Amino acid sequence: MLSANEAAVDQTPPGPRKVSLYASHIKAYPRFLNKGTFRRLKWLVMFVLLGIFWAMPWIRWDRGPGAASQAILIDLPGRRAYFFAIEIWPQEIYYLTGLLIIAALGLFFISALLGRVWCGFTCFQTVWTDLYVWIEQKFEGDRNRRMQRDRAPWSVEKALRKGGKHACWIAISLLSGWGFVLYFDNAPTLTHDLLTGQASVNAYGFMALFSIFPYLLAGFAREQVCIYMCPYSRFQSAMFDEHSLIVSYEAWRGEPRGKLGGGMQGRDAAAVFGGRGHCVDCKLCVQVCPTGIDIRNGSQLACIGCALCVDACDSVMDRVGLPRGLISYDSSFNQMARAKGEPASKTKLWRPRTFVYLTVIGLVGAVMVYALSTRKTFDTNILHERSPVYVELSGNRVRNGYTLKILNMVRREGHFRLTLEGVQGATMAVIGTDGDGLSAVDLTTPADDVGTFRLFVTAPKASLKGKKIDMTLVLTNLDTGRIIRHQNLFVGPDQE
Ligand code: SF4
Ligand code: SF4
Repeated sequence: MLSANEAAVDQTPPGPRKVSLYASHIKAYPRFLNKGTFRRLKWLVMFVLLGIFWAMPWIRWDRGPGAASQAILIDLPGRRAYFFAIEIWPQEIYYLTGLLIIAALGLFFISALLGRVWCGFTCFQTVWTDLYVWIEQKFEGDRNRRMQRDRAPWSVEKALRKGGKHACWIAISLLSGWGFVLYFDNAPTLTHDLLTGQASVNAYGFMALFSIFPYLLAGFAREQVCIYMCPYSRFQSAMFDEHSLIVSYEAWRGEPRGKLGGGMQGRDAAAVFGGRGHCVDCKLCVQVCPTGIDIRNGSQLACIGCALCVDACDSVMDRVGLPRGLISYDSSFNQMARAKGEPASKTKLWRPRTFVYLTVIGLVGAVMVYALSTRKTFDTNILHERSPVYVELSGNRVRNGYTLKILNMVRREGHFRLTLEGVQGATMAVIGTDGDGLSAVDLTTPADDVGTFRLFVTAPKASLKGKKIDMTLVLTNLDTGRIIRHQNLFVGPDQE
């Protein structure tokens, strides 16, 4: 049987079958079966994740007077990101790269072990859709009622129920947009400003933008996001092996399927199911599926691994007195073993691919820990002035100009000494500081800020051996003794 979302097939015999590349969307009406192990697990994961999402921006972190006091904050105007004790400056964005690599490898590792558990339980789309479907069935009733109502003409009751649903969806969408923007500004202040109309246009704009996404994606697009929009579903099967846990229908046990005539009242399961499969073709597994597929047709890309069909089928097996697990969440290795009448084994944790994923995660993590523990507390950026590249001074001297920036990444005033190497007889002067013709210049930068200085280097023309000479500017942190050496060029006129 083709699922609602599979391509429509022209069944005109004889000759080759024509497969249409377009299939109209058929709306899925998932039945909300509020019982079962995986349903409870989904509730738990939803509460924990949404709780984290909304609570995180309210956690405070003392970074000293005048500093951001939010534990997790992306301060775009201040060009800084805060994550508890870690403070990332723009030039340290590679930490984010490291985090993304670890997150991606972590996802691969979890997928190799537990299959599509990310898609089925923790993905934003799944969490919000689950919440929206729950609200929908609260207002419009379960699957059959919703289908009937959608087919029925408009009435006051229909308008009120649909209106109530959309009002709730919009409220949750606005809360989601609000939760999102809190990560970009001080949460209490921003909340106050948003409520009193004092927030910036940007804040309202981004809140509106991130409110629209859950409303459209979880309220309307739903399973289409997983099936057509998400790239992850396309390649994640590459992470699976025979020991990865997947949701599958155990056809060896279920077929030949058939309706259960007369019910089970007073009947023995062994007698009723002798000579036939255990699937009673009740289609409960199809009705609860959020993507509208029939898992009995085999593993499919549209299956997000939510395991709600496992709960549904288990409840049916309980009713008819058969063992659970006709639809199982297990490895294909175990399913094949059971099909052969052999006992299932425990999930193998250590396999070549899980070992490789964990090793790479460990290596990237170690590099990140090392980089964070040896993180520089200051940095410098020196740009050679281009117009003019050099100036010839009286006394056969040549002068080059530079813009020097010192990033002081600690919350106290920074004291630095600048010296230079590589250009014979060169001296320095910095606008705003005393003296000219200096071999070393002492500079001060404010706490947690960038000091910008205009630097002039002057050298005797006779000492220049070529048009461009390598020069090293040496910046010493007088508070810590740490040194940064910066390579640059000193440019002079062509030498005869
Ligand atoms: S819920 Fe179980 S018994 Fe019912 S149709 Fe699905 S597989 Fe068959
Ligand atoms: S087939 Fe089962 S596990 Fe897959 S999406 Fe549907 S309900 Fe979830």
